[in-house]
Amino acid sequence: MLYIGSHVSYLKDKQLVGVVKEALSYDANIFMFYTGSNQSTLRFPVDKDLTREAHQLMIENNINKDKCIVHAPFIINLANYGEDNTKFDFYTSFFKQELERCIELDIRNIVLHPGSFTNLTKEEGIKNIAKGLNYVLKDIEGVNVLLEYMSGKGTEVGSSIDDLKAIIDLLDKNVYEKVFVCLDTCHINDSGVDIADFDKFLDEFDIKIGLSKVRCVHINDSYNEVGSHKDRHANFGYGTIGFDKLINVIYNPRLKDIPMILETPWVNRNEKDTWAPYKYEIENIRNKKFIDYINQ
Ligand code: FE
Ligand code: FE
Ligand code: ZN
Repeated sequence: MLYIGSHVSYLKDKQLVGVVKEALSYDANIFMFYTGSNQSTLRFPVDKDLTREAHQLMIENNINKDKCIVHAPFIINLANYGEDNTKFDFYTSFFKQELERCIELDIRNIVLHPGSFTNLTKEEGIKNIAKGLNYVLKDIEGVNVLLEYMSGKGTEVGSSIDDLKAIIDLLDKNVYEKVFVCLDTCHINDSGVDIADFDKFLDEFDIKIGLSKVRCVHINDSYNEVGSHKDRHANFGYGTIGFDKLINVIYNPRLKDIPMILETPWVNRNEKDTWAPYKYEIENIRNKKFIDYINQ
């Protein structure tokens, strides 16, 4: 079955109900959202009634909650805990709160950027990420953490299969079972892999990590060339990867039943003409046919 959706907004008043309604307005059958601001720790309490209403709405509309995704905020950086590890408590406790919010919302997959090693070495960054995951996940049950494959912008860890494998290899046994991977076609392209060779990429992934560890794919086009390490998402079919190669990823039988999430930018023709592209992109994906919805 095709599980297709996009990034949607989670707002204070409507919370998960708003998330579900926005997803339905795009004809999506899954979604991904942040539980609050990406750059701050400001969070408001989860409203139980809204959560119940949202799950009822999901059941009525055949949205499978197990395929839906939360994205952890960018301010968490498990690769570098600052001078004398002073930020260890801050990053790990905030991440733990996010995991607990996932349980409260009953959306039990959370995508995490592995982190940036900044002034450390990549090897130290990798050890730190594993240390943070082992610490946070040792006594939390019922949430999957999906490490995102990154573009390799700046000092990002996770821009190769080997990076992700190095982190995963350092996980304690009971933590390993809770950690998965989220692929991102824009990031894979920008990291230096041509999406035309996606099956070769999956072969390597399967040998080194195991395909059963793939739990989500972000299906973004890219503004930049293979290996650019830039991380700028383009609309589906409008970038350097192009419609056909992205369609082949989505319908690759080895990724059957894996949630596919669009994180493409809003269309911005001018100040007054700004809108979400997801309904049109999802329609094109379902029809496997590119209709230019931006320039028509
Ligand atoms: Fe991400
Ligand atoms: Fe992504
Ligand atoms: Zn990105």
